[in-house]
Amino acid sequence: ADALAAVKDAVKEADRNHVFHSWSAQELIDPLAVAGAEGSYFWDYDGNRYLDFSSALVYTNIGYQHPKVAAAIAEQAAKLCTLAPGFAVDVRSEAARLIAERTPGDLDKIFFTNAGAEAVENAVRMARLHTGRPKVMSAYRSYHGATTTAINLTGDARRFGNDGATAGVVHFWGPFLYRSPFHAATEQEECERALRHLEDTIVFEGPQSIAAIILETVGGAPGVLVPPAGYLKGVRELCDRYGIVFILDEVMVGFGRTGAWFAADHWDVTPDLLCFAKGITSGYVPLGGVAISAAIAETFARRPYPGGLTYSGHVLACAAAVATVNTMAEEGIVEQSARTGAELLGPGLREIAERHPSVGEVRGMGTFWALELVKDAGTREPLVPYNASGADAAPMGAFGAALKKGGLWPLLAGNRIHVAPPCNISADDVAKGLAILDEALSVTDAHMS
Ligand code: PLP
Repeated sequence: ADALAAVKDAVKEADRNHVFHSWSAQELIDPLAVAGAEGSYFWDYDGNRYLDFSSALVYTNIGYQHPKVAAAIAEQAAKLCTLAPGFAVDVRSEAARLIAERTPGDLDKIFFTNAGAEAVENAVRMARLHTGRPKVMSAYRSYHGATTTAINLTGDARRFGNDGATAGVVHFWGPFLYRSPFHAATEQEECERALRHLEDTIVFEGPQSIAAIILETVGGAPGVLVPPAGYLKGVRELCDRYGIVFILDEVMVGFGRTGAWFAADHWDVTPDLLCFAKGITSGYVPLGGVAISAAIAETFARRPYPGGLTYSGHVLACAAAVATVNTMAEEGIVEQSARTGAELLGPGLREIAERHPSVGEVRGMGTFWALELVKDAGTREPLVPYNASGADAAPMGAFGAALKKGGLWPLLAGNRIHVAPPCNISADDVAKGLAILDEALSVTDAHMS
């Protein structure tokens, strides 16, 4: 125990002295030192085990340390770790083939990146070059990544600290019935009004200036926003009418998260470009990419694509992708995600919500859910204000502490808890996690006005 405590101290000290963390005021954070992880759990140096209801940052779709994927990475590392992006390589070809086989419609060419934001950057570049138009439209509340283009497309508060490079980005409101920007009372009204608002925005921005509309198929960071039936089809039609490239950002929802290989499958919609990352390798090795339609691929058939990355289609990452996709297929993990949502998480969360007045809404699909926490069920006032920090955010801090004390690692965002365990979480672990959540919600109930 003493030896472990010494390791923990050394890990924490070097972290404090030398690691610069994302999104944080460096001196105000105290990262947990993690000693190991397996399946749906990780643990610290003090022997505390946490059931990971966040899947890291919603990417360990097959859990931690899946033996088949870990073995495939080790095998590839022993054989060939890397090669320049210009060569044809077995695992890169196979990864691209496996992805293209699963992406909707004619999205049959894959441009590989290192992660999600670079996928968004390159999709936008392709759309601008393909159309010769400058503007890109994206939704308020959305998150598309942290590079310059991606953070400015982002429609949440994380772009505030990055203002100054918003040229060419136009935001609009997407559908979100619980907090309807359109004062709608039904899903159908929300859908119709959101589409009318989007078309009005297109018309007044000038369709001839708009290269692309980018949307998260199901909003992830915005709070698991499942679009109403007909919305994505409607956006597809608007894009066709005005010659706009339709980009779906499936970085968070691709590869099983919503109970389908791609969330677009639920609504039978085919974008022109589809961004992916995260689940493609379960994050074991960083990898992202853009799946490209035949028409956009044709634009670059005899004209060079002016973009590239040293590690595009990295060999080790592609080997991880091949093993991840094959493992998900062999073990039925996509179907398991759908079943877990329909039979366990959905009903379980709704049942919990009935007992807790601070839960304003339960929404989601597959292994991708959110509880909207409120101060007042009637007015739907959020439990903490938008973009709250410090004392304003304290109720969510107390809720998070109660969950961790119970042994569950949560993903908290604003006034919500997102419930996103691995897509292959066991029924027992779902039950365990829901029981911890049920108990901790007494903390948020106590903060109601
Ligand atoms: N797009 C979406 C929808 C995301 O959820 C994220 C990350 O959470 C990104 C893009 C950015 O991906 P990355 O952090 O891998 O650059």
